[in-house]
Amino acid sequence: MLTDIKSLLREELEAQFKTWEQPVYRVTQLLEWLYVRHVTTWDAMTNLPKKLRMQLSESYSLQSLELVRKQGSRDITQKFLWKLADGAFIESVLIPANPALYGEASDRHTLCVSTQVGCAYGCKFCASGLDGWKRNLAPNEIVEQVLAIERWNETSAEREVRSAESPKDSIPHSALAAPRLINNLVIMGMGEPLANYENLLKALRILNAPWGGGIGARKITISTSGLVPQIRRLADEPEQFRLAISLHGATDEVRQRIMPVNRKYPLKELTAALEYYQAQKDRMITFEYILIKGVNDAIEQTHPLGALARHLRAKVNLIPYNKVEGLKWERPGEEVCEDFLAALEKQRIPATLRREKGHDIDAACGQLRLKTEREFAKTE
Ligand code: SAH
Ligand code: SF4
Repeated sequence: MLTDIKSLLREELEAQFKTWEQPVYRVTQLLEWLYVRHVTTWDAMTNLPKKLRMQLSESYSLQSLELVRKQGSRDITQKFLWKLADGAFIESVLIPANPALYGEASDRHTLCVSTQVGCAYGCKFCASGLDGWKRNLAPNEIVEQVLAIERWNETSAEREVRSAESPKDSIPHSALAAPRLINNLVIMGMGEPLANYENLLKALRILNAPWGGGIGARKITISTSGLVPQIRRLADEPEQFRLAISLHGATDEVRQRIMPVNRKYPLKELTAALEYYQAQKDRMITFEYILIKGVNDAIEQTHPLGALARHLRAKVNLIPYNKVEGLKWERPGEEVCEDFLAALEKQRIPATLRREKGHDIDAACGQLRLKTEREFAKTE
């Protein structure tokens, strides 16, 4: 199988073009087709010589994601279900600017991307892990989630302009080159990002590069269930990516009940890795804390949680649990969530509580894929 062109860094392309005796500006042209114009065929790259296009097509694949399902509408959260080249499904979630969530100022959109097909970590409450792990995503499959959304956005913007004009007017694509839709990324879709470390980092470098996705490292948040060795490794990388920890329990007893990963990396080890991360990066960590009825929502839990957050100078994002079909877990009542938040605030811990309505579509990643796969399984 050929490597995909969108799995390569600029310097790798430059090295390849050198062996083909192509000038460096050809790389710039290629990158513009891929990351600015979002084309999906070699033939569309009209300013590249035919021979070069042939060489490229013989040496690399040029995959794009196929949209199979979309939920939600403009201005609210939208979920995209994609089909990969091998027929597997993944999803991405497009969220309108929500500056409070990770402390970033944002006038555009946040995209939540997947990093694996399924997940091996089997957290008890999560839809992504229900059917186990299938495979890692290649760098291009992570990168393409951003490009495919930009492509979708441009064509729908184009359609809107066209319908406003006389139908015969054809508007050149370049005239519509819209400002980029996505300026924040959260790596919180399906899969455990740090279990696909190499491909993730490569994809993020492509998405971060000025010649690629152009998304600032500080606007990229990686979420992990707590893989200790990889957190330490990430701390040693030069980029300033943000880190979110899916904590969901502030004692080993509570965390263990819902997150098997806690047996391998208990809180003591996780805390030590986060101390190291902080020492290296001096950046605020975020704790994700899903509130699950009767599991981790007792007010006493705010004491160990507050202590841990203070120790690590972390911010706490409280997220009322999204019901997953077939699982027994429930979201606590609104009052319980508000009291939990107030108890953290009383300890002067920076904390937020997600309060949006309309959770039917806002539901956590992994659910649309699971539903679709099960529907397909029924009809096969
Ligand atoms: N594997 C990584 C990233 C993907 S999960 C991680 O666990 O951090 C992204 C976030 O969604 C995690 O915080 C996860 O715990 C949360 N999540 C999973 N299922 C959920 C549900 N049903 N309701 C609310 N949040 C959920
Ligand atoms: Fe995997 Fe994250 Fe879901 Fe746990 S919460 S099963 S680590 S995707």
